[in-house]
Amino acid sequence: SIPLGYFGGIGAASRKGILFKGSNYLDLMTKVNRVVMDKTGTLTKGVFRVQEIKSFDIPKEEWLPMAAALESKSTHPIATAVVEYVGAAADDVAVDDLEEISGHGLKGRISGKEVLAGNVKLMKKMNIPVPAEVEAITDTIVVVGVDGKFAGYITIADEIKEDAKDAVDALHTMNVKTTMLSGDKQSVVDKVAAALKIDSAFGDLLPENKVEKIEQIKKGPGAVVAFVGDGINDAPVLALSDVGIAMGGLGSDAAIETADVVIQTDQPSRIATAMKIGRATNRVVW
Ligand code: ADP
Ligand code: MG
Repeated sequence: SIPLGYFGGIGAASRKGILFKGSNYLDLMTKVNRVVMDKTGTLTKGVFRVQEIKSFDIPKEEWLPMAAALESKSTHPIATAVVEYVGAAADDVAVDDLEEISGHGLKGRISGKEVLAGNVKLMKKMNIPVPAEVEAITDTIVVVGVDGKFAGYITIADEIKEDAKDAVDALHTMNVKTTMLSGDKQSVVDKVAAALKIDSAFGDLLPENKVEKIEQIKKGPGAVVAFVGDGINDAPVLALSDVGIAMGGLGSDAAIETADVVIQTDQPSRIATAMKIGRATNRVVW
């Protein structure tokens, strides 16, 4: 039978917006010694805004509406920023042969032209030459290709959540190590990791690379690993970690379904709260 203390713990957690899908996870949470976090939507707001636009081989008036039309077919937070900037007209443009290439971006045909919108990796994959000055950019950008030409790029920015520094500090105070994983570029990941003093951070990861990273981290001696994420791409990693935690605020259904613990607020500091409730519950039980 389940000791009564666990019900108290689960109740205390739910009042803080933390749902445990079983009392065993409340106990396991007390043994976690590394918390691995997704960047976008977990530590940052996941709401991007367009900052700057630069054209290369094609005028902006020509490529930007096509890029937005393509992005209007995606639910990625980066895509939302581009569509919001260009406006409602983006939805009305017909896109044929649309393809979403995981961890790269989008490809489609608009008025007979082949349009690409995504990251530098996507351009390389499709053999579009990327100017050196664009490769050197350390911010998050959407690069656009049209019929084999480098059209231009859109700089976008996300913000670190107000709660993120407290979240990381609280874990470190509890002797829990922190790691950040992201599909975003390493330069952006490094800036966020430095601001939050996260122990280790890895960028440029495809969804399958995130799985490999978790496998590797789990192999560490005595490692008990929690992963915190919110995206559709995060589901395999949530399933693989010892405790999978979904941030429910903006989270995808797939992430919420796969997770062992759901945080219903958008506060990453609730991770440490969940661990503290687990520790307090153990003291009552034993
Ligand atoms: P993460 O959620 O960690 O950023 P994703 O796999 O969702 O990881 O995305 C990885 C990268 O792929 C993004 O940072 C972006 O550069 C690019 N990307 C993915 N989808 C899109 C899109 N619809 N438009 C532009 N870029 C995209
Ligand atoms: Mg994500």
